[in-house]
Amino acid sequence: MTGSVRDNVARVRERIGRAAARSGRRPEEVRLVAVTKTVPLERILEAREAGLAVFGENYVQEAEPKVRALPDAEWHFIGSLQRNKAGRAVELFSWIQTVDSPRLLAEIARRAARAGKVVPVLVEVNVGGETSKGGVDPAELPGILSAASGLPGVRVRGLMAIPPFADDPEESRSHFARLRELLASLRGGAAEMSELSMGMSNDFEVAIEEGATMIRVGTALFGIRP
Ligand SMILES: *Cc1c(COP(=O)(O)O)cnc(C)c1O
Repeated sequence: MTGSVRDNVARVRERIGRAAARSGRRPEEVRLVAVTKTVPLERILEAREAGLAVFGENYVQEAEPKVRALPDAEWHFIGSLQRNKAGRAVELFSWIQTVDSPRLLAEIARRAARAGKVVPVLVEVNVGGETSKGGVDPAELPGILSAASGLPGVRVRGLMAIPPFADDPEESRSHFARLRELLASLRGGAAEMSELSMGMSNDFEVAIEEGATMIRVGTALFGIRP
């Protein structure tokens, strides 16, 4: 993918708009998280200038200089988080999207409480049942949520998933629908549990049609990663 970041942002926004219109939603209901792993700072600044304000990073160390350079942006952690990095993650990121165990949740909460923060988090669900992927089994969700309710440093705001990779975005649809149904079955009227982070460059339109409130887009904005 060539093209300037500015052009790419415009194209992605158009795609978001069309997918939202198809499903009777407003484009403002979908937060575009620009995924910046391996992307150099000057390209991220171009995205910022094109109006993007929410960024996602997979590695704490790689993120640090980028977060420092754009402190007023909203940074989401979207990688696999080791417990010994939870403190740094709490310092750097506004959201942590990839909680995948009660122990990680408790450590984030402990670090957040120490920093006087309440960190919004998502629980990552392994919707495809893939052994190679992170995320909790759906059966573990009620336990994690009840543990979270006793931890003042975290607020579980919803669910996140990375379905099995497929060339045809339609193959992701049933996984996205499953995540939406899981959220509906768990939230029990809790309005703050409303976020669905799902959809990447090749399938975010389908995710929007299935109710995504956050899409995580890298390649379509910044080009193919090295
Ligand atoms: C890299 C990454 C993305 C972005 O993927 P693209 O296909 O480049 O849009 C989204 N989510 C997660 C968790 C990622 O690691």
